[in-house]
Amino acid sequence: MKVTIFGTGYVGLVTGACLAEMGNHVLCVDIDVAKIERLRRGEIPIYEPGLEAIVRRNHAGGRLDFTTEAAPAIAHGELIFIAVGTPPDEDGSADLKYVLAVAASIGRHLDRYAVVVNKSTVPVGTADRVHEAVAAELAARGADVGFDVVSNPEFLKEGAAVDDCMRPDRIVVGASSERAVALLRKLYAPFNRNHDRMVVMDERSAELTKYAANAMLATKISFMNEIANIAERVGADVELVRQGIGSDPRIGYHFIYPGAGYGGSCFPKDVQALERTAHAHGYDARLLGAVEAVNRRQKDKLFELISRHFDGRLAGRTVALWGLAFKPNTDDMREAPSRQLMEALWQAGAKVRAFDPEAGEEAQRLYGRRDDLVLCEQAMDAVHGADVLAVVTEWKAFRSPDFAAIRVALAEPALFDGRNLYDPAVVEEAGLAYYGIGRGRSL
Ligand code: NAD
Repeated sequence: MKVTIFGTGYVGLVTGACLAEMGNHVLCVDIDVAKIERLRRGEIPIYEPGLEAIVRRNHAGGRLDFTTEAAPAIAHGELIFIAVGTPPDEDGSADLKYVLAVAASIGRHLDRYAVVVNKSTVPVGTADRVHEAVAAELAARGADVGFDVVSNPEFLKEGAAVDDCMRPDRIVVGASSERAVALLRKLYAPFNRNHDRMVVMDERSAELTKYAANAMLATKISFMNEIANIAERVGADVELVRQGIGSDPRIGYHFIYPGAGYGGSCFPKDVQALERTAHAHGYDARLLGAVEAVNRRQKDKLFELISRHFDGRLAGRTVALWGLAFKPNTDDMREAPSRQLMEALWQAGAKVRAFDPEAGEEAQRLYGRRDDLVLCEQAMDAVHGADVLAVVTEWKAFRSPDFAAIRVALAEPALFDGRNLYDPAVVEEAGLAYYGIGRGRSL
């Protein structure tokens, strides 16, 4: 099928590449000229496992192409995806300016029936607004062209995006047009062979499904962080509590890891946006506010532990930091807990020596050159010359380090385990002070 995708970020590029891999002809559009030029040269602007090979193969095979021109892109696709950003507005609600700009552009150029598929995460009611924006432009030029708008929220996880796209848990389609549903069924058939994963519903329910999924996941994390903070105060180990509750199949082991708080481009903004939607409809969604508040406090946790270790005297100290990305297998640092920690350390006069397997370049882009940040090429380079070590992201490469070598390298051997990766007894046996999240003795 002929597919157009607006936005070549994590969602748009991965979706485009996976659809091309299944034999579709995909044209990706972005307003970022530099990004499109890089993609045309076969360079992938983001780190996402497995993505580069698929993009190159399909680009070379003529099934995946890139442009900055909206008009030919709209002429190309029978299905036109919107996968542009929906960042938070000043009050936390989702800013729809990019989505609506694409919708208007579709209306300006569309000359035959197409399905506009919204993949961006958007507040309930956006399908109607997209419909209105397309229709207004069509009417302005007196064009009598049919089209449908479908809500098809994306559930891929950064770091496993290609795999998630190839083997989705579910494909949510919110639509009121049989014709549009039939076209999407055809498009997704290769991803839907093992059993039917397509859940068809109305547009509003589809839009809310995406927010409900992210809010539920964020709630699980904040809940466990709340339990961790209680555990710490009562002398319990949250890691044992986690295993104790996870064994109940109604609770399960997934996604109940306490830590240094959640980040990324989705959970923080989506929880806030859902809260704003509720508020706009006269409902005070208290749980969502609490999930956010607990997370904001949790992102200070490592700084508090480090500060307490030094009795508040951080000036002149150097902290080695392992992990800059908001989670493993990505270079994305949007809302990453590492940022809050580094910025608090700098504010207190400390320096940071940081290592991340993929996000070093992104950190350089975000913070530029500064005396209090050294970006290292190797994990142990960050540790040499530092006073203490803080682990912020649970990359596999950090899971079984040489604690003895770390102890020798640090001026003041203490390890702050922001993801509870290590057995405190093993770390302490190696001669390092251990601080975890919710592990009884950390306070
Ligand atoms: P992103 O910021 O990585 O990419 C968005 C892209 O859209 C950018 O390259 C930008 O230049 C481009 N763009 C903006 N306006 C445009 C226009 N008028 N025409 C063409 N391109 C335009 O964003 P992302 O992470 O891919 O997220 C996109 C949407 O998907 C968001 O609503 C997000 O909430 C949602 N989502 C993201 C993820 C994720 O893990 N990143 C997962 C599920 C859903």
